[in-house]
Amino acid sequence: MSASRAHVVVVGAGPYGLAAAAHLREAGTDPLVFGEPMDYWERNMPAGMLLRSSWRASSISSPGDRFSLAQYERHLGRRLDRPVPREDFVAYGHWFQRQAVPEVRRQRVKEIRAGDDGFVVELDDGTTVDARRIVIASGLATFAWRPAPFDRLPAGVVSHTSDHSDFAGFDGRRVLVVGGGQSAVESAALASEAGADVLRRIERPPEAHRRRVQPSAAREPVDRCAA
Ligand SMILES: Cc1cc2nc3c(=O)[nH]c(=O)nc-3n(C[C@H](O)[C@H](O)[C@H](O)COP(=O)(O)OP(=O)(O)OC[C@H]3O[C@@H](n4cnc5c(N)ncnc54)[C@H](O)[C@@H]3O)c2cc1C
Repeated sequence: MSASRAHVVVVGAGPYGLAAAAHLREAGTDPLVFGEPMDYWERNMPAGMLLRSSWRASSISSPGDRFSLAQYERHLGRRLDRPVPREDFVAYGHWFQRQAVPEVRRQRVKEIRAGDDGFVVELDDGTTVDARRIVIASGLATFAWRPAPFDRLPAGVVSHTSDHSDFAGFDGRRVLVVGGGQSAVESAALASEAGADVLRRIERPPEAHRRRVQPSAAREPVDRCAA
């Protein structure tokens, strides 16, 4: 049974879904937006994190820049820190949503299939929406990558950085951080601040940094954990 119809459905209410919806509204198309606004930033980014993108690159795109970070500062009547703390960015995202995309349906999309005149979008409660166009803005959550050696370790002792918004649970524990990018460096610092004994970091720098950072030839600790 089809519950409703929309010209455009936007899947995801993170920064990109909200930006796409804001521009579609400005263009005269009122999209149906599904998702919990900013929930990836709230639940999968560490507290205390600072944005890595510059001030200029961190505003969520809106028509005429009406809902930029600078406008948000004006709304608050105070200056935000640079780089922007995660907590401020989350609050900014919610403000953006209220201003630019006031109607967001806080439901998950379960399935999208071809329909007679476009697509049928099935929601988690079993209802459906017919849509002519779909914008997928579902983010990075399903792309967390765990290298093969860690498959052999019990879930209780291995986690991905995106599993943590709070490092307090590492207090007093010995932690091996694997990786050489921003998330690894930041997680090592945050775990250490939370009271963990951060053993060492195995560097596998992202391609862009490979010429600047020499990887340590440290597969050995991974194999020791796995033994
Ligand atoms: C540790 C870390 C730090 C980062 N720092 C920065 C930074 O400083 N600056 C920067 O620009 N970028 C940064 N990024 C990248 C950042 O994730 C993206 O820029 C931004 O969040 C992408 O926005 P998005 O809307 O595409 O995805 P997300 O913010 O992930 O939002 C996707 C939304 O879609 C929803 N969703 C997913 N599937 C469904 C479904 N089936 N039904 C309904 N809703 C669904 C999710 O719940 C989520 O709310 C960082 C990423 C990480 C992991």
